[in-house]
Amino acid sequence: MSSSAHSTEGRGELTSRDDRIIAAVEELQSELIDAVSEAIRIPSINPRYPGQSYDDVVGGEGEVARYMASIYRQIGCETDLFAIEPGRENCVGVLRGRTGGRSLIYNGHIDVVPPGPAEQWTSGDPWSGHVAEGKIWGRGSCDMKAGVVAQAFAARALRSAGVELRGDLILEAVAGEEMMEHELGTTACIERGYRADAAVVSEASAPPTPLAVAPVTPGVMSFTISVEGKATHTSMRGETIRAGGYGAAVGVNAIDKAFIVYGALRHLEDEWSLTKRHPLFRPGHFTIQVGVFVGAPRTGQVPFFVPDLATMECIVWYPPDDDPDSVRGEIERQVSASAELDSWLRAHPPVVEWRHHWPASILDPSHPIVGATCRAHERASGDRATVNGFPAVEDATFLNQAGIPAISYGPGDLRVAHANDEHVEIGELLVATKTYALLAADWCGA
Ligand SMILES: [Zn+2]
Repeated sequence: MSSSAHSTEGRGELTSRDDRIIAAVEELQSELIDAVSEAIRIPSINPRYPGQSYDDVVGGEGEVARYMASIYRQIGCETDLFAIEPGRENCVGVLRGRTGGRSLIYNGHIDVVPPGPAEQWTSGDPWSGHVAEGKIWGRGSCDMKAGVVAQAFAARALRSAGVELRGDLILEAVAGEEMMEHELGTTACIERGYRADAAVVSEASAPPTPLAVAPVTPGVMSFTISVEGKATHTSMRGETIRAGGYGAAVGVNAIDKAFIVYGALRHLEDEWSLTKRHPLFRPGHFTIQVGVFVGAPRTGQVPFFVPDLATMECIVWYPPDDDPDSVRGEIERQVSASAELDSWLRAHPPVVEWRHHWPASILDPSHPIVGATCRAHERASGDRATVNGFPAVEDATFLNQAGIPAISYGPGDLRVAHANDEHVEIGELLVATKTYALLAADWCGA
């Protein structure tokens, strides 16, 4: 299909090939937007998301996977639909290269988080996928059906521009990312044999800069702290806290004690804002947040007792270069040190239990896929590319862990992901699609 008329023009061929690719994306613009809307209209909530009934929700991911399969087949890809868990299919489309080029994986997840109450959406139905104000609206628009569809349409544009790749381009639409079920999605694809010389995950890579090229992510861990008190009648409150009272012999308010620990964690978080730095992240990005704080009598959530249990559920974002064990140690030492300040806590130390850990994704920014993506973005947008850390975590971690060098680059902004009125800018969608197409031609060879 490739035009031999261009192959003898040397450097001029490069420019004209890029021009043909960009023109092909522009010709597909309205179909591209329709396809993103169509994908949003398939509710594909992760069935393991907290608050969901698994049996009611399961199946949406599979439906999106089948929708993506129809696009991949139209491009001429070898298409592989497979599930580790019924109803939760992944779809992989392989655009076979002729031979001799580098291979590339384009990866994105097709599960979404729940939309929350529909009346909180001022933009309309969360599953509408409608277009207004130059944006496509709906749950999953920027996180991340725009990115998944853009990668597929990049391959389509290459075909319609008559560009034949030398290396394989592997398109992956995967399930399970929102609950870190990479064994069902991205890791399942790797284990099925889909590997490449580099990978680009199309997660929304703003803020701070739209369409940033992101070679690293932080790591994230969660933990629970439990603080014991001692229950008694609420009328004894004064006896438990005032000079001359019976004190801990009668009762101890667990909420009061938990605030000592809370204050210590906030203090450490403020220190981190000055001490934990990484050149690709905004200062202060690394945090320790108490996201759930529950204090109550063990007998139930009523105020007629001095409460005897307080729990805090916390999230820690740590720099990609930090050792997770030493981060855990820092936090445990801070909790223990705060307990040393109080006679009750010295005798009843707060208990820290570590829960989830999503390791950081780490790729050396000098890896050639970073420069190649920057060059493609610059040709696609006419603007300078920026290299930043990705603010959150995503499947690039598991690609990098498997030895497939992976970065993030995608349309959309995490400030509106997981939020009401989620949307994606059509301008960004278009630039991203052009970048993916130009990058594939450059990386895989054409
Ligand atoms: Zn995402």
